[in-house]
Amino acid sequence: MRLRISLPSFSKALSTVPSKRTPFPTAVQELTSFLRDGRPNITILTGAGVSTDSAIPDYRGENGTYTLNPDYKPVFYQAFVRSDDARHRYWARSFLGFPPVMTTQPNPTHYALAALQAQQTSSTHQPGQDQDHTHKDHLGYVRTLITQNVDGLHQKAGTKDIIELHGTLHRVKCMSCGHERDRSEFQQILADLNPNWNEMIQSNTTSSLYSRMNADGDVELNTAGQQDLHSKNLRQRILDYHTFQYPTCSNCGSGHYKPSVVFFGENVPKAVKERSMQTVLEADGLLVVGTSLATYSAFRLVKLAKDAGIPIALINLGYSRGDALADLRYDESSTHLLKAVANELGLGEIPGLVKKHFQHTLNVIGS
Ligand SMILES: [Zn+2]
Repeated sequence: MRLRISLPSFSKALSTVPSKRTPFPTAVQELTSFLRDGRPNITILTGAGVSTDSAIPDYRGENGTYTLNPDYKPVFYQAFVRSDDARHRYWARSFLGFPPVMTTQPNPTHYALAALQAQQTSSTHQPGQDQDHTHKDHLGYVRTLITQNVDGLHQKAGTKDIIELHGTLHRVKCMSCGHERDRSEFQQILADLNPNWNEMIQSNTTSSLYSRMNADGDVELNTAGQQDLHSKNLRQRILDYHTFQYPTCSNCGSGHYKPSVVFFGENVPKAVKERSMQTVLEADGLLVVGTSLATYSAFRLVKLAKDAGIPIALINLGYSRGDALADLRYDESSTHLLKAVANELGLGEIPGLVKKHFQHTLNVIGS
């Protein structure tokens, strides 16, 4: 049991004063020590910032504002539940927006976080090594990863034991009977029901149809004036989302599917909330990566750790609501810092590419 020390509350006031940026080598050393101290029971909390290097921009800027897409109006939960019109609109736009979600790849931050956890699952003794050495080699640093992201990139990078605080884009669930199915499979059903729309995706003209895709699967369609289509007739046919067909549940026959994403106006499921809080309380350290903590469901976890005296390290480019709560705070790119820390810990080469951000691409909600 590690000793936990709570800092007095006046530290909050002190830490609101802009502090000097920690030199990079110092940050690497401090974070390495933080991970070693909490090993093997660090909990990680991630947000949209970890996916920006996979070309999924963080929709909140340094001041927590919607800098990339100020006009975005998300589908609200109540509207989706009650309104057939809202569901037509959502599924039409989601149908166009989902293909890039399937193909987006993890970046070095995802792989570094996976590497921090990876060795924990194996405890087999390697011939030729003494027992202590083997045990140490197979002990990971991280137990559970909690993410606000719905893109599934942590899973693609190999992280296990993930709590998806705001759900996932990769499944849909019947709102009546709870029947779940894979979103890729659902995409095929939508394609079969809507051959004209599918034709648009196949002919690669969808990029001109929408300017931004939001990670709740919703696409921001360009206005007519922004359209760059060859055929105006085709555009008008395509953009009428009322024509878009979506299926009722294949299990109960009457229920409607909803993406397994927590919409605006919807609560985080109770079991997910409780499990995430329990996981934080059981941790020996909380590493927060790439989030401004603007969403209360995430901020609450950091506050919980603080109140329980659990050490907190926070990596985020720009302001974060958790700044005053963190014992260690790095205003850095998580990709560079975590690659260096993984190297310091001898975790081997961290794979993954940092992609150039597209001018118009994915926006992420729920962080
Ligand atoms: Zn059903």
